[in-house]
Amino acid sequence: MTSWLSRIFGGGDVKGQPNLSSNKVEATPVQTAQIDGQDFPLFEKTDDLIDSIRRSNIGALRIQSTAYQNATLDLHRKLAAIYGESSRQVRDIYSAALHCAKCKTEFPDSFKLAVQGGFGPGTSVRGATPGFREFGQTGSCPGCGCQESLLVYEHFLPDQITVMMF
Ligand SMILES: [Zn+2]
Repeated sequence: MTSWLSRIFGGGDVKGQPNLSSNKVEATPVQTAQIDGQDFPLFEKTDDLIDSIRRSNIGALRIQSTAYQNATLDLHRKLAAIYGESSRQVRDIYSAALHCAKCKTEFPDSFKLAVQGGFGPGTSVRGATPGFREFGQTGSCPGCGCQESLLVYEHFLPDQITVMMF
């Protein structure tokens, strides 16, 4: 896995510090989250995600699952201030997928509604995925128990869909 790097960078003398950044120009290196085979820049703050949306229209936000509603409201308020209340950028918040931060499972919409308090006690929800009530209360992934999620935001501009980086 690292042999091609060793050839390029002259062997294993650089312990634990692979020099992979020499051809990058980004000022602040960011973490990435791989979702469905695509790398998303990963942020902890909504302001940083919004900077990324302004630059590249994508980004992932790591949140406590139970803070999903607060995160979406915060994004909504800030993106509406930039793009307008009825902009696609604002609407894309609500189609943004929510994935477990650890096992990367995508949570169904009923889980997103549940952490927003969308289901009262005793509410019958036809067709909802089992486990959504527990998720609404604890924010724990049913698969691995992780309580953090990634809000994966993608905004596709109609004229940018075919633009590639290389
Ligand atoms: Zn999980």
